[in-house]
Amino acid sequence: MSAEPNSSPLVEEPGGEPVRLPAGIRSLKELAERATGRPAEPVNEEDAGLAEPLAFPFAAIVGQQEMKLGLLLAVINPAVGGALLIGPRGTAKTTAVRGLVDLLPKVPRSLCFYGCLPEDVEQGGIDAVCPDCARKYAEGKPLAVLDRVRLVELPLNARLDDVLGQPDHRNPRRIRKGILAQADRNILYIDEVNLLQDEVADAILDAAAQGHYTVRRGALTATYRARFVLVGSMNPEEGPLRPQILDRFGLRLWVPGLKTPEERLEAYRRAQAYREHPHQFVAQYAEETAALQAEIQAARQRLSQVTISDEIASLGARWVSQLGIASLRAEITLFEAARALAAADARTEVTLDDLRQVVPLALRFRRSAFMQDYAAQREEEDQLLTKIIQQN
Ligand SMILES: [Zn+2]
Repeated sequence: MSAEPNSSPLVEEPGGEPVRLPAGIRSLKELAERATGRPAEPVNEEDAGLAEPLAFPFAAIVGQQEMKLGLLLAVINPAVGGALLIGPRGTAKTTAVRGLVDLLPKVPRSLCFYGCLPEDVEQGGIDAVCPDCARKYAEGKPLAVLDRVRLVELPLNARLDDVLGQPDHRNPRRIRKGILAQADRNILYIDEVNLLQDEVADAILDAAAQGHYTVRRGALTATYRARFVLVGSMNPEEGPLRPQILDRFGLRLWVPGLKTPEERLEAYRRAQAYREHPHQFVAQYAEETAALQAEIQAARQRLSQVTISDEIASLGARWVSQLGIASLRAEITLFEAARALAAADARTEVTLDDLRQVVPLALRFRRSAFMQDYAAQREEEDQLLTKIIQQN
């Protein structure tokens, strides 16, 4: 059995050979390697725009505590809803996101065509997985392998076909996996998200909302999973972000320029050192990077045990309501970020301090002056209508 690289859709096109290889596995050799627990080669995402392998270490970024904390919370808990980095040009936004590459945790990746995971059985019983996986589970065989979360970058000039997928020029009977499918269970990074073409932005929002999407090109159809953590960055001087896209980002991280001359000089020195001897510079931070990675992995594992009391949750909901925020995503991000923070601090209960600390990150840029004016006008009009009805 063979499969083209980058083409293992959940549902095969009509008339095509059914592909039984799990997503991301290109050959039986690779499948065997994974099944036996031997490390497989990294998947060659030839058009994924993956971040360069030797990234500037996250731990070497000077200052920018809020940005660093927010990005780590988004990595620890995907339910936070990702993060948007907002700030002027040249403030290490992209450097920080690319630096995450060496910190990303390992997650179970399904070995099955349908994406079944052991956690599906644990949560929904044996009927929650396909018959093949049910049998494997009963026999004590693995349904998934642990694999590092990857950073998938959306190139600035990406077209809709690159994002969704398109017929493979080497095998026109197949659809070649797009960037969104490659981002499944990974992090999708969009730099200058405010400059994205509308049709590309809409496709990403749809896929993010549903967790999967379907490509149709002529007679070909393929459906892909696309459950990713969305991370974006933007310089507000270059144009606004549509409210619909802004609402999709969980945390809103403010990334100003470094203030003190000492910090600026240190940032300059580190950037120089990295440029001149990148391997040596990365090696200097290797220990710190490994420690941070281990902490993130541990926090991610602890997350399912972290609880938030009714008392603290009610207080959070009251703050959101007092701010006049409409979107229910506000509470989700607020509470999930607080849970991630507790997990990062090796605790299993959210404190009031956790909640306070994530409020600016979760709730800023969520109030809409337009909607508040609009609602006020409606209120005024309703009063007029009521008056008229009562007079006659
Ligand atoms: Zn299955």
